[in-house]
Amino acid sequence: MSATFDTDVVVIGGGPVGVTALAMLGRMGLTAIGVEKNTEMWRTARAVHFDGEAFRMLQSLGISEKLAKATRPMNSMHIQNEAGEVLVSVPTGQFGSQAWNDDLTFHQPDVESVLRDIVSDLPGIELRCGVSASEVNNVADGVEVTVVNAEGQESVLRSRWVIAADGARSSTRRALGIEGDRFGDDANWVVVDGHLVDSPGYEDDMIFLCHHSRPAMWIRLPGNRVRMEFMVMDGDDPDEIVTPEAIERISRGILPAANFTPERQAIYTFRGRIAQRWREGNIFLVGDAAHQAPPCFGQGLCAGIRDIANLVWKLDVVKRGIEDEDLLDTYETERKPHAQFWVEQAVKAAGFLQTLDPDAARQRDQFIRANPTEAAPVSPPLGPGFHDGEVDNRAGRLSVQPILSDGRRLDDLIGINFTLVLDTGMYNDLDADLRRQLESSNEVVVLTEPTQTDLILQAVGAQAVLIRPDRYILSVAESPVELDRVVRHIPGISVGAARTA
Ligand SMILES: Cc1cc2nc3c(=O)[nH]c(=O)nc-3n(C[C@H](O)[C@H](O)[C@H](O)COP(=O)(O)OP(=O)(O)OC[C@H]3O[C@@H](n4cnc5c(N)ncnc54)[C@H](O)[C@@H]3O)c2cc1C
Repeated sequence: MSATFDTDVVVIGGGPVGVTALAMLGRMGLTAIGVEKNTEMWRTARAVHFDGEAFRMLQSLGISEKLAKATRPMNSMHIQNEAGEVLVSVPTGQFGSQAWNDDLTFHQPDVESVLRDIVSDLPGIELRCGVSASEVNNVADGVEVTVVNAEGQESVLRSRWVIAADGARSSTRRALGIEGDRFGDDANWVVVDGHLVDSPGYEDDMIFLCHHSRPAMWIRLPGNRVRMEFMVMDGDDPDEIVTPEAIERISRGILPAANFTPERQAIYTFRGRIAQRWREGNIFLVGDAAHQAPPCFGQGLCAGIRDIANLVWKLDVVKRGIEDEDLLDTYETERKPHAQFWVEQAVKAAGFLQTLDPDAARQRDQFIRANPTEAAPVSPPLGPGFHDGEVDNRAGRLSVQPILSDGRRLDDLIGINFTLVLDTGMYNDLDADLRRQLESSNEVVVLTEPTQTDLILQAVGAQAVLIRPDRYILSVAESPVELDRVVRHIPGISVGAARTA
């Protein structure tokens, strides 16, 4: 770190994405100061769903056991219409390619507490609560952040980079003059979280209730917590609609006032937005500051965690001088199209769900019956960047995580590193100098043991696979000559002349 900086990174916002950033920065050995304007953690839930990828990214923080206790596999999902007819049933909750359940639900404050606990234990990492960022300016080689504490005292923090995780209303984004592209129409919904006791609720864990008289959603959370969301209709009284009697009525008796104890009722606007730029000099927008989606696929927080996993290892290799600053441009080029895919999918699903006209609802029902896969979109590859996806579509995609015969998950063995996966014969064919460099490098783990490599090589359909620290595939090789080229992508592997066939 330069002597002129107080810390490597200032993280603005101590919501789930900001705290994940602090934790990952700390795990990579960078220093960071987080500022959060609220003195206490927000105790109400917003996000309720992780996918297997988000869980895997958090696994790298060493908190899997605690997270597993705070989450519940989502075992069943369906879409139904006004008449209660099931239009499509989607199997969920499988132990998927990430070695975690594909869908899990949680009570957000429980997950945030786990994240905050590790942040407080990491050397070089500090979260200052009750401290607001009031001004952020790019300066030569770094950023100056003016902060104001709870007593109103102002000071300036100097860092090499800023991660702005200051939420949907990001003052950083606005101060930088970054506009948001708008996707779909905004709509107001009532979100109700609470405890349902001695009443069955719906049988499935997640239901899109495509009721054209009042669209709604149902989600079962850990313990006896449940969430229901209801579209606000013309003529609703915003004060009445959140009363226990109204909730019993609009839930069609699923949340009876006598059995349901609400924890939070709030009107929330479903919206789709993508910030036009995600990097301004040394300032990076992440999480809801960069993208917002209607919560139909529960991808908002998952996308924020992906942002952090993508950005932090790049900051690390640039800080250590083994990659140059240009690498940081790939944060936006890779992540923005991926996040936009999920915003578009969620906006489309919200459009289906929010159909109010009975004729249009009938057509929607027919479409869903005829196109059941629309209910379960598959995550896309990264946009163009630091991977070979533009020349080989096996690269730029998320890798699988094997579970080993002793029950350990592979990522726990390799840490946050580049990973070269191949068989021994292919490895031995590599240039001896490159092999020496790989074996003495702290950046890369070489895996040749079949119990560790087979699943990955089969899933990708390649002879050799190079995986980045964020578990995305950097490149693949089918021959020693290609492998010779591929390993030269690894930061710090110094290159002689590449072999030719
Ligand atoms: C009803 C609802 C349901 C949702 N369901 C899901 C779901 O199932 N799955 C999912 O993945 N996502 C879901 N989301 C989205 C998810 O909640 C958000 O994507 C996630 O909370 C974003 O986290 P964040 O840290 O980026 O922003 P936030 O959680 O908004 O945190 C931003 C933080 O920055 C702080 N801050 C702001 N300005 C400043 C400043 N100037 N200085 C210091 N601090 C500042 C704020 O106080 C806040 O703590 C849902 C959202 C809602 C509202």
